[in-house]
Amino acid sequence: MGKRGKEIVGMDVGKLVDMLNTALADEWLAYYQYWVAAKVVKGPMREAVTAELMEHASDEARHAEMLVDRIVQLDGTPLLSPQEWYKAGTCGYDAPSDPLVTAVLRQNIEGEKCAIDYYKGLLDAVEGKDPLTYHIALEILGDEVEHETDLQALLEDIQLMKKVT
Ligand code: FE
Ligand code: FE
Ligand code: MG
Repeated sequence: MGKRGKEIVGMDVGKLVDMLNTALADEWLAYYQYWVAAKVVKGPMREAVTAELMEHASDEARHAEMLVDRIVQLDGTPLLSPQEWYKAGTCGYDAPSDPLVTAVLRQNIEGEKCAIDYYKGLLDAVEGKDPLTYHIALEILGDEVEHETDLQALLEDIQLMKKVT
């Protein structure tokens, strides 16, 4: 990166890169959790659920791209191996071993709650110190809140099917 671009960051850049790498690991794990769930999910409203899961998977991949670009701007090294994802990440990975729509929706809602908490913490950590990372984290947080809302709405609709007729 340009030297000046790094100098304007008002916090420890190594620590900031670590925080961005944690988010990067979580985004890739979330990407795969959505992507593979979309392939195996079954039950009521399967098509709507699959479409939502695939849309979220591509959002998570876009988040990973935003994070890796910022890491490179900061002269940091992005995680280079998937083996590092579990160790560096904080939200973990929840395999869709129960493919029922309600189980898949619930486990991804948990993942989004974790992501929302992480990005809120990242925003608090960089506020007033790194406006560019702040901007990125704010955009991603908005998407994660939307993800949680969309999954919750689908879960509620499926639960309401039992009450109809
Ligand atoms: Fe994300
Ligand atoms: Fe998300
Ligand atoms: Mg959505």
